[in-house]
Amino acid sequence: MTGFMQYSGMRCGCLGCLESKVTGDAGLSRRDFLCSTAATAAALAGASMISAPAAAQTALTPDQALETLMDGNKRYLGGQLKSFNEDLSILKAKTAEKQEPFAAVLSCADSRVPVELVFDQSIGHLFVVRVAGNVATPEITASLEYGIAVLGAKLLLVLGHSNCGAVKATIEGKAVPGQIGALYAPIWPAVNAAGGDLDAAINANARMQATLLSRTSTIISTAAKEGKLKVAAARYDVATGGVSLLPP
Ligand SMILES: [Zn+2]
Repeated sequence: MTGFMQYSGMRCGCLGCLESKVTGDAGLSRRDFLCSTAATAAALAGASMISAPAAAQTALTPDQALETLMDGNKRYLGGQLKSFNEDLSILKAKTAEKQEPFAAVLSCADSRVPVELVFDQSIGHLFVVRVAGNVATPEITASLEYGIAVLGAKLLLVLGHSNCGAVKATIEGKAVPGQIGALYAPIWPAVNAAGGDLDAAINANARMQATLLSRTSTIISTAAKEGKLKVAAARYDVATGGVSLLPP
């Protein structure tokens, strides 16, 4: 079995699964963006013949998308990474024309939070948007909306992490150079709600940004309401590598 076939045997969303997406109940915007030309259709038909359909990404429910991520974190914790064994050259070729990530993740820019690695995912699986403090600013929200409305992500996960410098800086409230202070305002409500406790503020920030996205984006709120998207918040522990889901 090749690396790619091992990959496609997982809940992968490989391009071999695209035919069903294109002909099935895919999002209108996805079809408009990605499947409007005959050349694309021909490429997709060719791709579907190459790899086994296995469990298509399109068959993933939002809950299964979350389960898939958390399973990946278990492999990461146990040192049993599968993504490193995937045939990356084949994956690159398969995803050159389009992407089909099953989850969108908003995480901090912190170098200790390598999102794909943490969830044992490789090319084409995750739509990752990163910004210090994992805050849902307008541009960040727009990016996530693209991942959901156009690319069809089934899960939106806001991932905070222990020892977050952005949250810590907001608690301290010191003067900072340049535009770094712009991060204070979106993080401040969580710091305020947590009474200045760092761990509580980190958790509150992830939950609040998830809530903010759910309530301010009509794309996200509508997809969630229709059962096409799950929105969740989690915390990554930089010491242990574990991801814990946070209660809503
Ligand atoms: Zn951080």
